[in-house]
Amino acid sequence: MMNDKGKLVIISAPSGCGKGTIIAEILRLRPSYIFSVSATTRTRRIDEKDGREYHFISRDKFEEMISNDEFFEWAEYVGDFYGTPKKPIYDFVNGGATVLLDIEVQGAKQVISREPNATSIFIIPPSMQELEKRLRGRGTDSEEKLAARLERAKEELEEKYNYEHIVVNDVISRTTEEILHIIERKD
Ligand code: 5GP
Repeated sequence: MMNDKGKLVIISAPSGCGKGTIIAEILRLRPSYIFSVSATTRTRRIDEKDGREYHFISRDKFEEMISNDEFFEWAEYVGDFYGTPKKPIYDFVNGGATVLLDIEVQGAKQVISREPNATSIFIIPPSMQELEKRLRGRGTDSEEKLAARLERAKEELEEKYNYEHIVVNDVISRTTEEILHIIERKD
């Protein structure tokens, strides 16, 4: 399916684990890495830009992309759809790039089974209390959505053993270094 020129790196974490900050830090330290921009039906947050964090698309468009087999993987998460467009992944990995996939556990399972050479990393919070504190601190979700995300986070933590590596996010800089070490270990 995919040759082994580049590297596919899956990074998952329950929301509120600091994954976004860590990925931003990885990309700052490794400007040659490519972030795979997913498509989603979720509403754009105020600080997000279409085409940067996500391609924000309608449910109809998302379904059309599913029928046209345009996704590498996709999943439903807390009422919205999220998917990785296939073409950029193939182009970048075959071109020799390191590509980061920020995806949730169901999508990760699909990729891990199909691409055994992918590196898979699951980030966990130091504690559940810390996770709730971080989720509340973000202040972008309604109380209902927050409760759903927390519930989902607990379920997702159960999935960590599907991943090759589990990393505790205690201090961003240390966690980022550990992840870079994992990604680059076979170089
Ligand atoms: P958020 O709404 O907080 O940006 O993302 C919610 C969850 O969806 C996160 O766990 C994120 O990793 C995941 N996600 C983002 N893009 C994709 C994707 O393309 N596929 C899958 N399966 N999950 C995604």
